[in-house]
Amino acid sequence: MSPTRKISIKEHPCLVCGKHGVDEAHYPVRRSHGGTMVVPLCRFHHRLLDDHVGEWPAIIAQLADAWIRRMYGEERLKEVHGW
Ligand SMILES: [Zn+2]
Repeated sequence: MSPTRKISIKEHPCLVCGKHGVDEAHYPVRRSHGGTMVVPLCRFHHRLLDDHVGEWPAIIAQLADAWIRRMYGEERLKEVHGW
């Protein structure tokens, strides 16, 4: 798959709970903090990520990283994190 292929985030279920009707959640940090990737999260899990609630950011990060790797490839994942 070409890394430039446009992926419609809203067609995907929430990475955490599988619910449809997702937000385009900026990752690894909210857009105002420089997040350049968007991942599918329902409103509830989007808020847990952005508000840094408990262990949720770490849990969601594992799922988001796996999803980005699967959808865009390892190189894009490295770019997202600046690795
Ligand atoms: Zn969810």
